[in-house]
Amino acid sequence: MCLSVKMSYKRQDVMKGYTDKTLHIDLAKLSIEENDVDKKVREIFIGGKGYDLWLMWESLPKNRIVKWDEPENPLCIASGPLGGTTGYPGAGKSIVTAISPLTDIVIDSNVGGFFGPWMKYSGFDALRIVGKAKEPVVIVIDGTQEKVWIEPAGDLPTESHLLAEQLNEKYRTIDKETGKDDRIFVSVVSAGPGADHSYFGCLNFSWWDNRRKANHLKQAGRGGTGTVFRNKNIVAIVAHSPSVNLESQHPKDQDTAKQVGRKHSQEILKLDSEQNKMRVIGTAHLPSIMSEFDLLPTYNFKYGRDDDGKDKTLWGDVYEKIFTNTGKGWDGCWRGCAINCSHCVEAFELKTGPYKGQKVLVDGPEYETIAGVGSNLGIFDPLHVVEINFYCDTYGLDTISFGTALGFVMECYEAGILDKEKTSGLDLKFGNFEATMEIMHRIALGKDEFALVFARGIKKMKKYFKSNYNLTPEQEQFCQDIGMEHKGLEYSEYITKESLAQQGGYGLTLKGPQHDEAWLIFLDMVHNYMPTFENKAEALCWFPYWRTWFSLNGLCKLPWNDVVPEDNKDSDAPHKVPDHVQNYATLFESITGVPMGKTPQEREDSLVHISQRVYQFQRVFQVRLGHGRRIDDSNIPYRSAGPVTLEEYESRMERYDKQLVEILGKTLEEVQKMPIEKRHGITRKHREEQYNKLQDAVYEKRGWNHKSGVIKLDIAKKLWPEWLFNEVLPFIKDLQD
Ligand code: SF4
Repeated sequence: MCLSVKMSYKRQDVMKGYTDKTLHIDLAKLSIEENDVDKKVREIFIGGKGYDLWLMWESLPKNRIVKWDEPENPLCIASGPLGGTTGYPGAGKSIVTAISPLTDIVIDSNVGGFFGPWMKYSGFDALRIVGKAKEPVVIVIDGTQEKVWIEPAGDLPTESHLLAEQLNEKYRTIDKETGKDDRIFVSVVSAGPGADHSYFGCLNFSWWDNRRKANHLKQAGRGGTGTVFRNKNIVAIVAHSPSVNLESQHPKDQDTAKQVGRKHSQEILKLDSEQNKMRVIGTAHLPSIMSEFDLLPTYNFKYGRDDDGKDKTLWGDVYEKIFTNTGKGWDGCWRGCAINCSHCVEAFELKTGPYKGQKVLVDGPEYETIAGVGSNLGIFDPLHVVEINFYCDTYGLDTISFGTALGFVMECYEAGILDKEKTSGLDLKFGNFEATMEIMHRIALGKDEFALVFARGIKKMKKYFKSNYNLTPEQEQFCQDIGMEHKGLEYSEYITKESLAQQGGYGLTLKGPQHDEAWLIFLDMVHNYMPTFENKAEALCWFPYWRTWFSLNGLCKLPWNDVVPEDNKDSDAPHKVPDHVQNYATLFESITGVPMGKTPQEREDSLVHISQRVYQFQRVFQVRLGHGRRIDDSNIPYRSAGPVTLEEYESRMERYDKQLVEILGKTLEEVQKMPIEKRHGITRKHREEQYNKLQDAVYEKRGWNHKSGVIKLDIAKKLWPEWLFNEVLPFIKDLQD
């Protein structure tokens, strides 16, 4: 086989969190190169998502827009300067970017597992892959041998659970004297056969669990990075690192790094059991809370709970009994993460598909999966959710997009827009687990026409339905209203009807409706922290900027706000968890040596400023790709803002009628005398106007032109150094209002 190609290199030690090297692979040319990171790039882009964005930006041709399936689409993976810090909770993340098949803009996805840190300790801060291989390949980055190579995948399977197992076994080394192996230092990135045939293919990042003697899989779920990966004909990427400890980061100030890590970890160990019980049930604690506040997507986001209480079967107390070895706090997707929230089901016997009857380890389910493929589909058997979770992962399908898109299909089916003839015989009504599994297996096989239409996501399904099913204008509008996608990306799993700030938190994101940019529902709806447009706009700057910081550094954000200090509520800004913000400033300073300022405010502002520069750069990147304008932030599906159907209005009539009392200045009696169609219509008009006003307020705060939605030149000039301003100028100068 002539495909094999190898590069030997001198492994660069990590110094103050950085190797200052990036790895560039071109699969078409079969070339492997290491490059130095320019100081000025490091200063602005920091690492993680920042490095990914810059590597993409400099590699794409400037004279045309590249589509997701062109060889030039760069797939990038990076950790960050704080990624791989063994003593700090959540410091093991990798960030993946590419041009998304769903959105045609840059998607970024933050994922656990050990790959990013192992790649860094093997000598590279970031990886960029362009081109397409002629044959299926495996890329190996082996820091123990100081070699990177591309080899034919041969007869390897593509299912992720098999790949993780086989490649971890293949690339570990065994010490001849002690007989110990180093498989914990091997991590595998893979997608799956579902990613070959869908636009929402995800990537699985494996980590070896020495106590369970098994591989776990964590997902870079959003936006189809797995689809891009398979389109490049990659079967897997393996990182094999030398062994590491806190000293391997060579921090500027090791004692302080240790101290702040110990402080944060001890606080988690002390308080987690009184707060969210993440160590016992992880994010599975959320369905009950979301249900209580009417926020748990149910029946395609129609309701925030099942009104007959069926969603109780998906709550944390149920999963606590399903997870294996609950309560032992074993399952950290990073070494030394005190939260250890990543639970699993061992020896789960599969009931369907090619592995029917086999017992497997299923990592999860997490909240988003429970809500997305459980309550949102009317599937209330918790073990059915585990089965869907397993197959989505091993096939390389994003559980969020799969669940949200199938919810749309099920509602269309029940509304008569689809029938069995159109769905190739599948009875896709809510609650049908067998049909859910069947469509998923059909995607993996890549044969059934309807399964393949479905697998392109809601945005493309809407177009297909319109052109192929002779929809009436009402049906077309209905599909637009209930299809929970924006910018092409399916919504993640929160009901936003009663939180205008979160409607913006989804609609005014850079990449599409994923809550990792801004999760404001509770602050807005429950705590009423942001009553005015000004407050909401302020939050829609601070939180997206702040949350960006985690992805620049290779960090998980859960330790920031899922366990908070006992006295957090007495602080001046409890929603920001100020004590933890200061921890992160200290950690950043002690690892990188970059000073953050003296006063707490200066230190917070420094972190946010760092992130703001990259956040705004990503917006310009979307502009460069032909999007990132006001129009792209508008037209959110109405179901994310209010009740689409009269049935929905009636189900929460008391709430909506009371709101009309305020909006119209009438008495409740007067409101109730109005026909329900009228009340429903006024509610819609009002809510759509509110979103437009919010958009204006946020644009003002972010420094964006109101009409075009593109950053103002004077703001851009102040934000970036001259060299970067000159880079972005050609893409923004003609789009000023
Ligand atoms: S908090 Fe949970 S998701 Fe985050 S790194 Fe720790 S174990 Fe992983």
